[in-house]
Amino acid sequence: MPGFELIGKEEFQEVKELFDNSGILFRHGFENLRNGIYKVKEFESDFANYIGSNDALAVSSGTAAILIALKALGIGKGDEVIVPAFTFVATIEAVVEVGAIPVVCGIDKSLNMCPYELKKCFSEKTKAIIVVHMLGTPTAMGPVIDFAKSNRLFVVEDTAWGCGGSLDGKFLGTIGDVGTYSFDFAKTMTTGEGGMVVCKDPKVLERAKAYHDHGHENNPSVPRWKDTRSSTGFNYRMSELQGAVGKAQLKKLTFIVDAQRRNANRIKELLTTHNLELRIMPEGSKPTYDAVVFLADSPIEAENYRKQFLENGVGTKILPEAITWHFAGDWDHISELVLDEEMISNSRELLSRCVAIPISVNMDENFFNSIKKVIS
Ligand SMILES: *Cc1c(COP(=O)(O)O)cnc(C)c1O
Repeated sequence: MPGFELIGKEEFQEVKELFDNSGILFRHGFENLRNGIYKVKEFESDFANYIGSNDALAVSSGTAAILIALKALGIGKGDEVIVPAFTFVATIEAVVEVGAIPVVCGIDKSLNMCPYELKKCFSEKTKAIIVVHMLGTPTAMGPVIDFAKSNRLFVVEDTAWGCGGSLDGKFLGTIGDVGTYSFDFAKTMTTGEGGMVVCKDPKVLERAKAYHDHGHENNPSVPRWKDTRSSTGFNYRMSELQGAVGKAQLKKLTFIVDAQRRNANRIKELLTTHNLELRIMPEGSKPTYDAVVFLADSPIEAENYRKQFLENGVGTKILPEAITWHFAGDWDHISELVLDEEMISNSRELLSRCVAIPISVNMDENFFNSIKKVIS
C-alpha cells in the first residue's frame, strides 16, 4: 500500500532543493537557469539502477505507462492483447486506447493469469500478453514467457502493484519485454501521480521516449524547438516536482517492502495456523505484499469474514467487496472485451470467495489481534 505512509521531510527536502536552486519544473531545456538540476532524469537513472535495467522512462501515470508500452511495441488497430480477468481497469483501457482488442484470460489460485489458459485466448491476431502481478504477487512468468516465445508475442508486465518485488532474483517488470509501474498515491512508492517504463530492447525505449513527448527525439545536435521526429506522440511527461518526490521515495522502497513482508508473514502465519487456504504463489517469489489473500469455502463465508473484520475495526482490500473495478467479467461498459464464459465464471467463482487483508508499513498490534480474534 504505503509510500504515502512515509511521505515526509526527505521528499520535502528534494522539492525544496528544486525551488531553492533551480525553479525549473520542466524536465527539458532551460539549461542556463537550472543549475544542472534534472530531477526526472536523476529519478529515471536511480530507478533503472535499483531494478537492474539499462534505462527507464518516467511518465505521468501508470495507465499512461501501459499505453506508451503498447505504442512503443507497435501494437494498434485490430491487434489482440491477452489480459488477465483480475486486474485494475487501466490495463484494459490502455489496450482499447491503442485500438487493440483485449482478450481476457482466466486466473488460477495465484489470482494472476493462468498460463495454461493462454492457448484458449490465442489467435493469429494476438500480438502481446499483459501480465499483472496482482496485489504484489508475481505471475508465474516461466510458462508465460515460453508461450510468448513460441508464438512470437511480446510480454508486458503491469507492475503497478509489484514495484520492489521479485521472481527468481529478478525484479518484477524486468522479466518481460516491457515493464510498467505506477506511482499513484495508493502504490508501494508514490509521486502523487506518476509511472515508469522499462524495456529490454533500447530501441523500444527510444520509441517510448518519443511517443510520451509528442514524438520528440531530443536530438542533441539541434535545439528542442528544431527537434527531429519520427513518430507522432502525445504528452505523458513527468514534471520535475514528481521527479523530486520520486527520488526520495525510491530510497525508501527497500524499507517499505521489507516491512510489508514482515507484517505479511505474521498474518500468513496466523491464517495457516487456523487452517485457512492461502493464495498460491510461484516458487522463487518475493512479493511486495500489498495484501495477504486467503480463500474461504464459499462467497457467503467470505462476506461473513469481511463483516466480522469490519466489526473488529479491520477493513479488507478489493476482495471480496470492491471487485467492481478489478474484474473484467463485470465490465459491460467496454464493448471491445472478448470473454470466454467458462473462464470468466471460474475466475468469478474463485474471486468471490477470496478475502484480502491489506498490508502496510505501520501496523499496530491491535490489527493483528483483531485478525486473530476473527479467525480463531
Ligand atoms: C494502479 C494501477 C494502474 C494504473 O496506475 P495509475 O498510476 O493510477 O494510472 C494500472 N494497473 C494496475 C494493475 C494498477 O493497480
